[in-house]
Amino acid sequence: MRAKPFPRIDGTLAAGEVPLDALAREFGTPLYVYDWAVARTNLERLRAAFGDADLLVAYSVKANGNLALLARLAGEGAGADIVSGGELHRCLLAGVPPERIVFAGVGKTRDEIAAALDARILAFNVESRGELEVIDALARERGVRARFAVRVNPDIEAGTPHEYTRTGHAATKFGVAADEALALYRWAAGRPALEAVGIDVHIGSQIVEPEPYRRALAHVLEIADRLASEGVSLRFVDLGGGYGVRYADEEAMAIETLARLVVPPVRERGLRLVLEPGRFIVGDAGVLVARVLYVKRSGTKTFVITDGGMTELIRPSHYRGYHEIEPVRERPGAPRVTADVVGPICETGDFLARERTLPLPEPGDLLAVRTAGAYGFTMASNYNGRRRPAEVLVDGDDVVLARRRESFDDLVRGERLPDGGYAP
Ligand SMILES: *Cc1c(COP(=O)(O)O)cnc(C)c1O
Repeated sequence: MRAKPFPRIDGTLAAGEVPLDALAREFGTPLYVYDWAVARTNLERLRAAFGDADLLVAYSVKANGNLALLARLAGEGAGADIVSGGELHRCLLAGVPPERIVFAGVGKTRDEIAAALDARILAFNVESRGELEVIDALARERGVRARFAVRVNPDIEAGTPHEYTRTGHAATKFGVAADEALALYRWAAGRPALEAVGIDVHIGSQIVEPEPYRRALAHVLEIADRLASEGVSLRFVDLGGGYGVRYADEEAMAIETLARLVVPPVRERGLRLVLEPGRFIVGDAGVLVARVLYVKRSGTKTFVITDGGMTELIRPSHYRGYHEIEPVRERPGAPRVTADVVGPICETGDFLARERTLPLPEPGDLLAVRTAGAYGFTMASNYNGRRRPAEVLVDGDDVVLARRRESFDDLVRGERLPDGGYAP
């Protein structure tokens, strides 16, 4: 059992050697705090589980694209799984080698495809015939060969906590069915600007059972075998991401079991394995620190109102996601209450937790929302005129302001006043 991230030191939660209350004092709240050592350890553990397999870890940037974090992950040898031109831009700035970048997504625009071709990424994970045709045309225009993998929809229902995070069954917009995948590879075989290099599957997010991955892999390997018999030999199989972490009392993905199931059939075929973990790397490496503004009783309910809410962390509201919430400083003797922990946003759906039992805080206290490193800041918004929060990255006793808090001017940048002038 590994140590819990953000442990208490003398009664106060800490990132590395730095107490969270000191960070809140210096950088204000709401505040994202990442512990680099935790993310690095998660990456190491994943790699160790897969042993000497020929492995590319393509970190899923949409989980947390902060440049300071991304650059460090790239420094550890990670590649990237991207879903937009914006994420490509981020990766290139952070120094992720293009030959370690795969590009997924059902709606890649021509500009995005052109930028990825110019950057010479490892592969497009293609999600439709129309997309492959555009990639072909743009590659021809440039006189380059576009490497691609077809994203297969294996029609597997993997258990995820929320329907929005299931992507591997036929009713979702992702990937193509096996027969269409074969048709795409065959079509591409006659096109010199296209090079089939892999096959891809991604079945969803926050999956804690290895078994659906074994089935998804078997499904795509059958296609790869068929292609091999037709003379199309691929170099890699991309198993996607989605390996679950522990938010409440569920068990995280047993990554060692997953590796035992998937490495042998991939190795047997001499293929490279690409994995696209997001949450598994950064989920428990981040907390959101918020300050209690008010404690309000209304009828039988208690509301703890903090300065952070759905604009900073939308998972509770959008996915019914559960996040542990703890006082940053222990409050010995505080009575325990059952309360809704809510933000200041004008939405009933603005909550961080509902019906949660915790020590009764007082205004001014700090709360830490755990396991907020993935799909936290990346899903933050400016709704209600909110400035997106600062992000701090801690490494031992070293503290980096990885992103400053937005200013009010940031909120209106690019807008136009009636007299024709841009603000600010
Ligand atoms: C979101 C996504 C991932 C990462 O999912 P996690 O649950 O964060 O591991 C990987 N691959 C693709 C294609 C995705 O869309």
